[in-house]
Amino acid sequence: MVAGPKKLHIKTFGCQMNVYDSERMAEALGPLGYAPTKHMAEADLVILNTCHIREKAAEKVYSELGRVREMKEMRRQYGLATKVAVAGCVAQAEGAAMIARAAVVDLVVGPQSYHRLPQLLAEMDVAKGGILATDFPAEDKFAHLPERPLTRAQPSAFVTVQEGCDKFCTFCVVPYTRGAEFSRPVAAILAEVARLAEAGSREITLLGQNVNAYHGQGPDGRVWSLAKLLRRLAQVPEIERLRYTTSHPRDMDDELIQLHGDEPKLMPYLHLPFQSGSDRILAAMNRKHTAQAYTGLIGRIRAARPDIALSTDIIVGFPGETDADFEATLRLVREVGFAQAFSFKYSARPGTPAADLPGQVEAAVAGGRLQSLQSLIEESTRAFDAGLVGRSLPVLIERKGRKPGQVTGRSPYQQPVHTDGSDRLIGQIVEVDIVAAGQKSLTGVIKSGFEWREPIQAAV
Ligand code: SAM
Ligand code: SF4
Repeated sequence: MVAGPKKLHIKTFGCQMNVYDSERMAEALGPLGYAPTKHMAEADLVILNTCHIREKAAEKVYSELGRVREMKEMRRQYGLATKVAVAGCVAQAEGAAMIARAAVVDLVVGPQSYHRLPQLLAEMDVAKGGILATDFPAEDKFAHLPERPLTRAQPSAFVTVQEGCDKFCTFCVVPYTRGAEFSRPVAAILAEVARLAEAGSREITLLGQNVNAYHGQGPDGRVWSLAKLLRRLAQVPEIERLRYTTSHPRDMDDELIQLHGDEPKLMPYLHLPFQSGSDRILAAMNRKHTAQAYTGLIGRIRAARPDIALSTDIIVGFPGETDADFEATLRLVREVGFAQAFSFKYSARPGTPAADLPGQVEAAVAGGRLQSLQSLIEESTRAFDAGLVGRSLPVLIERKGRKPGQVTGRSPYQQPVHTDGSDRLIGQIVEVDIVAAGQKSLTGVIKSGFEWREPIQAAV
């Protein structure tokens, strides 16, 4: 293939799994001569990697396509051609409707067809109208994407190990847009982590829509659990930290809970969505757990790892939610004391069972509940962060800070930590005395006596 000076701009919406997919798409297009650019105006190929989880997210894509259309027109006046692709879950869900609604789109490509991008680009050169590629099996994608390059990798990298979902919560589009649950084989994950480690990554976050439902084929021919996979990854010497997200309460088994107690490389942070504190609403959501089962689970996790930082997702205004149901959600937030929480106003997604339920909650009522919930979450987060002031924490330095002479990293509990320091520290874990807790981050001072050391493996 001939390398050329072509530019690629990818704009990513939504979750970390989309961030990972965008990286892999850029890598798949590298051999065709596409180099990434941050500026859309420079791009010969624009990809919007979209999210369909809430209504606003899909609308954001259509308004972004308006801006892309203007950019394409401007470039056309300078004699420059621009190809436009829409990827991700909006692409999967909208399919041909997107090509009909937004003529600027040349290609609609679903999350399981990214490995076909080079071939689809060639087809775009000769096609008259927009091209649709929304086939399903995830196996094909992972088997055919190119290996991760051995160029400099982020100190903290994502690796998707599981995709799709069979749980069918009544509010959620994921089972329809990402398809059935699929776990990548252990050997493929180990190979990817080894390459990332060699390229300089020190922390790996395993990703999946239901990551703790992981059940991939092991090299021994048996099915491996997420706990077994994490234990194996902990043996990779360069990898100093492991995380995983997002988990479902039902798949949080004893083996995984125990691992939080005895594997020092597994960070003391867990994102475990509970969605609602009301059993009636949980049943209508098809969550298959009760509020008590959730708090019981939290008790067992804290028994294994008392300092663990807990995070969650919560939906307010699900159809039929009363003030009493919402109160139950607030009670659960108070009881657990989350270090972090993401809260959403219920958004009816076409094609999901909840969209047709009676008792849709008025937007103003749901908005008021969201505000009260967010104030409570803020209090909880502030209390957790304030408890870290005065402690000394190991921080993985990830990038330069906003101010000159500053660097930013993450604590074991996942908060960003700002500290004065040289950018030669990027990729290293340093001991930091935490001196203050801000809105969404901590500030600290690198412990005196800390010495800079050469990275374990020089990044290429
Ligand atoms: N698999 C994860 C779980 O079971 O908790 C969640 C994955 S989903 C991509 C992320 C979050 O988006 C959910 O936990 C839920 O809180 C929120 N979400 C999903 N569908 C939603 C909807 N229709 N309206 C509002 N929030 C929604
Ligand atoms: Fe969606 Fe998560 Fe429920 Fe699956 S388990 S349907 S991804 S909210």
